Amino acid sequence: MNIFEKDSAFVANTYARFPVALVSGKGSLVYDQNGKEYIDMSTGIAVNTFGIADNEWINAVTEQLTKIQHASNLYYTEPCAQLAQILCERTGLKKVFFSNSGAEANECAIKTARKYAADKKGKDYTVIITLKNSFHGRTITTLSATGQDVFHKDFLPLTGGFVYCEAGNTEQLESLVKNNKVCAIMFELVQGEGGVLSLDKDFVNAIFEIAAKNDILTIADEVQTGNGRTGALYSFMKYDVLPDIVSTAKGIGNGLPLGATMMGEKVKDVLVPSSHGSTFGGNPVACAGAVSVINRIDDKLLKEVNEKAEFIINSLKNANGVKSVSGMGLMLGIETEKDASEVINYCMDNGVLVIKAKNKVRLLPALNIPFSLLEKAVEVIKKGCAL
Ligand SMILES: *Cc1c(COP(=O)(O)O)cnc(C)c1O
Repeated sequence: MNIFEKDSAFVANTYARFPVALVSGKGSLVYDQNGKEYIDMSTGIAVNTFGIADNEWINAVTEQLTKIQHASNLYYTEPCAQLAQILCERTGLKKVFFSNSGAEANECAIKTARKYAADKKGKDYTVIITLKNSFHGRTITTLSATGQDVFHKDFLPLTGGFVYCEAGNTEQLESLVKNNKVCAIMFELVQGEGGVLSLDKDFVNAIFEIAAKNDILTIADEVQTGNGRTGALYSFMKYDVLPDIVSTAKGIGNGLPLGATMMGEKVKDVLVPSSHGSTFGGNPVACAGAVSVINRIDDKLLKEVNEKAEFIINSLKNANGVKSVSGMGLMLGIETEKDASEVINYCMDNGVLVIKAKNKVRLLPALNIPFSLLEKAVEVIKKGCAL
């Protein structure tokens, strides 16, 4: 059997894969089973922050790998503590819980919010407001938090206590707060899976005002937007707000599974021994890699991210076959006149990997993609949109 036959025979049928097997790569170039070269504009869905087989990250990871690969959370390990310190110092949040994925980072955020309210406001303050069209993960609870019916329908009953607000609708938000015992409002500042849609600055301000007035926690799901992706270390910095809880995953690990839930002053001591845990969480190898990732996301790199974003937007926004470009930093969505899948397949045939978000072509290149490759990729995308 070849790899395609073997995979479809033995791997659970949950993914509609492209008919391509990725074998190796370097930076923003990746090669398939036939040796065909692609410019990677998808980075494994915003995961490979510094591209494929990045030397600095490999050094950090392999150095740790030769010392100790796992210790359990019954003992201290240096990379975990070091990463937590760096994250707190760079964000203004106060403590970090580590896990292995975005869904788990959000589970921790949800548990923290519920326990904060139970400790402080009363056990009936359990409701979390999330946004319509959001995406927060695939576990039953993060699925329940996800404001899209299509993901829900086959998995009822969902976890209770989630109500959904239309993004941008402050009136609805106020009425949901009035009519429910709310402990938190949870949102992506740029909805990724929902179609690369940035929240309105005014609406974000309204969330924070309403939350402050009612002692409601704010939870920013930065699983996709975090770690430099939007041109700030975390996208809340672009909105000039400081959430009580920030979850992240994807790009922090550069390819190794790692989730982080950062907790602000109000909630930093809500979780206590035995209230939460994770066997792999804070794994020293993943954390050592993440330390190298976060340390490289400095002002200089972020400036480059914003310049690259500007270049992509300017090249595409008035291009033939392009209706609009949305998003922030190197997390962009192209609304195309043609079906997005047609454009994606054209790009793939012509050596550029891009993916979909709802009806859009989504671009998530490595933060350090060289300008020369970016220019080449944008040319191909432009042609794909225009045909
Ligand atoms: C990808 C994603 C998740 C889920 O992350 P997993 O690592 O797949 O569990 C949650 N929230 C957002 C915003 C995401 O983009």
